[in-house]
Amino acid sequence: MDIPRIFTIAESAHRIHNPITAEKLATLGKALRLESGVRVLDLGSGSGEMLCTWARDHGVIGTGIDLSPLFTEQARARAEELGVADQVKFIHGDAAGYVADEKVGVAACVGATWIAGGVVGTIELLARSLRTGGIILIGEPYWRQLPPTEDVAKGCLAESTSDFHRLPELLASFGHVGYDVVEMVLADQDGWDRYEAAKWLTMRRWLEANPNDDFAKEVRAQLSSEPERYAACTREYLGWGVFALMPR
Ligand code: SAH
Repeated sequence: MDIPRIFTIAESAHRIHNPITAEKLATLGKALRLESGVRVLDLGSGSGEMLCTWARDHGVIGTGIDLSPLFTEQARARAEELGVADQVKFIHGDAAGYVADEKVGVAACVGATWIAGGVVGTIELLARSLRTGGIILIGEPYWRQLPPTEDVAKGCLAESTSDFHRLPELLASFGHVGYDVVEMVLADQDGWDRYEAAKWLTMRRWLEANPNDDFAKEVRAQLSSEPERYAACTREYLGWGVFALMPR
């Protein structure tokens, strides 16, 4: 069980696999007023930065599930590094359908809502693990500006403009499924640069270390085309945020 190889190559040096920065992740942790000992479930936990830093800074107890063996291994190493290995557990596996044995105070899916077929399905899945009074976190893109053409939407790696809402409609959509939006932390273009531009140096170094790998052609093609695609499309049109929700 693994994710497509291009991600494990391009994002092997990322601690956060999203346009949110370490500072904004810390802001989010504070904004949620996390109490020591609260349980946090993270579906698609990546390299574990959210759970590990919140365990260190707020004393949370966390479980993360991720399909990537590499990211899961990195998450465990990060927990050791931050001295929180007794507070957080990282499981390698498919998070689709995952429900916690013990209900949690925070149930999160930050930038992986495809695991339950989109935002609505992911909220429903997370709700099954949530204790009364708990908070759901959803990390999701939205359009900063509507793409002028479907080609620009595709350039943002969406299938079509209808894949995402604009921010007001995204916020309203949470209400339509019965949730209050109680907090949010939004990424900005600098955060997008940290996520996207950091892949380029990683890919370049990987190419230098693996010139004869079967995959080198694909990585080379990505490195050649990504900066322009990103600047023309994602950076201009796509926003991203983490939204904190409580059932009405
Ligand atoms: N939340 C993390 C990672 C976001 S990237 C962060 O913000 O850093 C999306 C993550 O979803 C990747 O780590 C990928 O390995 C994971 N993923 C993709 N499909 C998955 C699935 N079916 N089950 C669990 N994790 C999955």
